[in-house]
Amino acid sequence: MNPPSPLRLRIDLDALAANWRQLRALSGVDAGAAVKANGYGLGAKAVMDRLYAEGCRTAYVSNWQEAGALAGHPPDLRVKVLHGVDAGDLPAALSIDADPVLVSPEQVALWRAHGQGRRCDIMVDTGMNRLGLDWRGFCTEMFAGMDVDTVHSHLACADLPEHPLNGLQRDRFEAVVVALGIRGALANTAGIFLGHDYAFGHVRPGIGLYGGSAGLHQVVFPSARVIQCRDVPAGDSAGYGATWTAARDSRLAVLNIGYADGYLRGFSNTGAALIGGKRAPVVGRVSMDMIIIDITDTPAVAPGDWVDIAYNLAEAAAQSGISEYELLTGLGARYERVYA
Ligand SMILES: *Cc1c(COP(=O)(O)O)cnc(C)c1O
Repeated sequence: MNPPSPLRLRIDLDALAANWRQLRALSGVDAGAAVKANGYGLGAKAVMDRLYAEGCRTAYVSNWQEAGALAGHPPDLRVKVLHGVDAGDLPAALSIDADPVLVSPEQVALWRAHGQGRRCDIMVDTGMNRLGLDWRGFCTEMFAGMDVDTVHSHLACADLPEHPLNGLQRDRFEAVVVALGIRGALANTAGIFLGHDYAFGHVRPGIGLYGGSAGLHQVVFPSARVIQCRDVPAGDSAGYGATWTAARDSRLAVLNIGYADGYLRGFSNTGAALIGGKRAPVVGRVSMDMIIIDITDTPAVAPGDWVDIAYNLAEAAAQSGISEYELLTGLGARYERVYA
């Protein structure tokens, strides 16, 4: 007999779909979906199945292992591998139905020589200095005879709307798109919010699909179980380092979630569980496998109960100092992922 799952992650696929439709509508152009890192921790296959049903036809993954995990996808779904392809990837790349996003002259030469004429995308670096062919010295001749579908670039400061690099990157990218005369894609989620000037022909939202960026629907709902409840007198402390002291006689509950589950120590004395809609604050430090919450004001809790963890991404990020991205991708393997 399998032991019961200790933790649950409820994933609201209707909310995911609504977020995708909202971002596509806002961009005014065709929208793909970034499902790298196993769909930001939610499960790439389940995410992509649902978004495909909504009309999404492009999935972005990091590497060929992630592309392989989507194998068996519908033939009109285009899976794009953002890290491109190197010599070690070639056997896999030629056997998997996915397109590399070529990021360097070496990758372009490799795909030209060994890609069997297959389709590819290209990434141009317009100022982030991470991945891509440099925008200075960019020349279209190097792709002559190749089947290039889309040219990409990525914004370094899209979440800082006033940053001057946004406009610079946009203008540099526009020159590249015009020179190539093919579909361009620049915007991630935050880029979509910068306006239609940044949309070009296609957008690549990620975090917003999963409930990041204030204003979109929450998608991920973790819950944990109560192991023990205890009454502590005023003046007692709780947890490692005794960082919390009871200001009044209190009732505490110990939950089976900790930093090994991605509930990181930034939630020490800042996070909360939700009990009957009321916040039951985390008291003391987050441990590896446990947290302690204060249920003095929400006492109807007993060992074995399931308790929701407050995980609105914008609020949780503000409280914990952990980015929305890390809040999702850190969610560990101990959760049973329940798709609703
Ligand atoms: C991850 C990624 C995205 C999605 O970014 P979000 O900020 O999650 O919307 C888009 N484009 C590229 C190149 C990426 O690496």
